[in-house]
Amino acid sequence: MQNQINSIVKDTLINLKQKGIPATPNEYHKEFCNVSKTYNLSIKECKQFKQLVSKLSKNEQIEIETKGIQTFEDMIPILLNRVSKDNVNTLAKLFQEAVTPSISIDVDESLQKFSIKIGNSPALLFEEDIQKEMQEFITKRFEADKKVVKQKTSDIAKLLTLMGQYFNDAIHSSGKGSKEVSNIKTQIQSIDMQKSNGFEELTELQSKLIDAALTIENEMSHVGEKLSSGKSEVEALEQKIKKLEEELDKTREQSTKDHLTGVLTRGAYEEEVKKIEASFERNNTQYAIIFFDLDHFKKINDTHGHQAGDIILSTFAKVLNKNTREFDIVGRYGGEEFVAVVHFNLKRELLKYLKRIKAIINDNDFLYKKEKIHVSFSAGVAIRNNHPSYESAIQKADMLLYQAKENGRNKIIIEDGTTI
Ligand code: GH3
Ligand code: MG
Ligand code: MG
Repeated sequence: MQNQINSIVKDTLINLKQKGIPATPNEYHKEFCNVSKTYNLSIKECKQFKQLVSKLSKNEQIEIETKGIQTFEDMIPILLNRVSKDNVNTLAKLFQEAVTPSISIDVDESLQKFSIKIGNSPALLFEEDIQKEMQEFITKRFEADKKVVKQKTSDIAKLLTLMGQYFNDAIHSSGKGSKEVSNIKTQIQSIDMQKSNGFEELTELQSKLIDAALTIENEMSHVGEKLSSGKSEVEALEQKIKKLEEELDKTREQSTKDHLTGVLTRGAYEEEVKKIEASFERNNTQYAIIFFDLDHFKKINDTHGHQAGDIILSTFAKVLNKNTREFDIVGRYGGEEFVAVVHFNLKRELLKYLKRIKAIINDNDFLYKKEKIHVSFSAGVAIRNNHPSYESAIQKADMLLYQAKENGRNKIIIEDGTTI
């Protein structure tokens, strides 16, 4: 084997010399593989080249065959054709687009220079240093876009906050277009919306909000005018309502008062008695129930007429009312029958009250159409504190009134037996 190799080396060098080819490593390799074939010797290095060629594309194999390429070195230009110039150019363009921010409009001079450099010699794309630089530009591009998106998001938030405040103030303002409302509109106007890719909508939103604000302001000033012109009408209405309220109060009062005599109606009397009873139960205040009934009133009507009777009834009621204190009550119980509830501490106070009324009626005549009419009354007086209930006390008063009538009228009988 070694002898054969030595012979092949010898033949190779002789062949090269004969052909006048310098024995460079490349030429030597070619000739060596040719000679080794004539010796029927299979040399590993010579087979490797063939094996590689068999893995190439058909076109590349044909090219190697026709050009008689036999070494790795000569194969390199054919392999380089695999990366076509067009492909490299397209790649460079794609890279430029990829690293140019789509949102930010800030100009990056170093990126522009770099892009021009790549454009001029796209093959640079395959150099390690350049690839590192590309990576940095890609990172930078995302940072720039992120910054702008952040800024725009905060612009939207600012707009929304201001608009919220605007509506709030507009709703709560008195209708005269408050200063604060105008201030907010100015703030909305002053937000600096840079027109940039994809953000025209935001600028549009800003101008729509300003329009809305102007409309609201106009609306508010109209309302303000209407309000001030309507103010006097409102005042007139207030007056009217006040008058109606007064009338209503009067009506309510009238419904509690008997229309002929002006004392409490039976119903109103019962209501008032409930309050007095409640206070009696709390404080044990002493009070008397007095039933008054005009004597022979039927006869008076018959003699002097019903109208005369009416006037006597109303005058008698006035006498009772005038002599009864504010926290005591007088009511018309029936036709010519009245009831009074009178508080007292000492019995003589009660007697004084009863005597005064009797004296007024006894000592005076009623006057009707210049006619003097004399009237007397009878009364029964029960003391509430002597009874377990109001009902029992009023029954007693009724009974004593009946007694007074029985005993000759023009009498007041108190339940302790005292007669006035
Ligand atoms: P006595 O002394 O027993 O009470 O006799 P009297 O006639 O007063 O009693 P009686 O109950 O018999 O008659 C009551 C009269 O009072 C009958 C009725 O015509 C009259 N009367 C009741 N209400 C009114 C009223 O509002 N106006 C007038 N004018 N008379 C009335
Ligand atoms: Mg009577
Ligand atoms: Mg009667």
